Amino acid sequence: MPLSFASRLDKVETSAIRELFKLLGKPGIISFAGGFPDAAMFDVQGLREASQQALAEQPGAALQYGATEGFDPLREELAAFMRAKGVAGVDAQGLIVTTGSQQALDLLGKTLVDPGDRVIVEGPTFLATIQCFRLYGADVVSAPIDGDGVQVDRLEQLVIEQRPKFIYLIPTFGNPSGALLSLERRRRVLELAVKHQVAVVEDDPYGDLYFGAAPPPSLLALSSEVPGSRELLAHCGSLSKVLSPGLRVGWLVAPPELLSRATMCKQFSDAHTSTFAQATAAQYLRSGRMPATLATVRQVYARRAAAMGAALQRELGDAISFTQPQGGLFFWARLTGAGGRLRDAGEFARRAVEQGVAFVPGAPFFATEPDQSSFRLSFATADEDKIEEGVRRLARALD
Ligand code: PMP
Repeated sequence: MPLSFASRLDKVETSAIRELFKLLGKPGIISFAGGFPDAAMFDVQGLREASQQALAEQPGAALQYGATEGFDPLREELAAFMRAKGVAGVDAQGLIVTTGSQQALDLLGKTLVDPGDRVIVEGPTFLATIQCFRLYGADVVSAPIDGDGVQVDRLEQLVIEQRPKFIYLIPTFGNPSGALLSLERRRRVLELAVKHQVAVVEDDPYGDLYFGAAPPPSLLALSSEVPGSRELLAHCGSLSKVLSPGLRVGWLVAPPELLSRATMCKQFSDAHTSTFAQATAAQYLRSGRMPATLATVRQVYARRAAAMGAALQRELGDAISFTQPQGGLFFWARLTGAGGRLRDAGEFARRAVEQGVAFVPGAPFFATEPDQSSFRLSFATADEDKIEEGVRRLARALD
């Protein structure tokens, strides 16, 4: 019998980026393509001790089925982690643990999106989010961004025109944009949410990865200053980028009626996030090692970002334009076409692989109106020497 698949799959496709990843097996290739943190920075010793403690102190809980909402000691630690970042009034009951923040996004899609609903995202935004919301039938529309994040005037206009179910934003060091939404724009986003009674999803896996001064408060932290906004806000957090993506520990903060529905859907999906991973994460956060871990990753990524910015400026000059990121893992750049050089980032990516360096073209990160000249470079997994060499190869690919 031939297999007959659900029609919802017609709305999504295997990402173009995956096709490119197949080329990465080439020996000697320098990759700026991935969205991964650097495995060399995982606090292996700290996690080993945390997992041993989890097994020694709570073997039953760490290995048994658990509550769908999450392992309570971890929920307490995560709430304290959020409060330390200026989020008032969040406690363990106000969040659920998810299997990575990716699952939180899936649960939001499942609980909020009906086929045909509009969802507004940044153009560009995280590709998996676009695909995930489309899987539930959303019509995903892009709002333009600039160096300060989403353009709020355009966003408001789109809200009025499209009447979206919700707005999805990565306000702090977006993937792929690296952009940081200014404080003034954060306030305006919350105000327009209240004015138009539209929900906002804040995805924040990179907020802790800042290189200099701390970024403005998250939308969630700021929501206590904008009456009525907290009831319209969902916030996704993650330990993936600062500690370990393999742990698959993320969380969702949302109003109670949304949190209870998301919990119900999670129950049908994976019952709960790995109790062993949760108990390990709880022990880790309790161990007091997180501040030192954060300081290390910030320092290493800051050096790499500085090296990449300087090398791009030196080697590619006016052939590209970009904003130096203040945190996160990514440079977002555009081919300017200056001097009659290449404008198409897809072609640039193919030529780059021939020169031994990989990155991802930007067009797939747009839900609508793709910018064919844009591309994303990750500086996370290459050391400074590799970054220098990789950027020289990029320059050769452009010539
Ligand atoms: N949101 C954004 C913006 C991301 O870049 C990622 C990871 N690339 C995720 C969510 C998912 O991360 P995780 O599930 O590991 O928490």
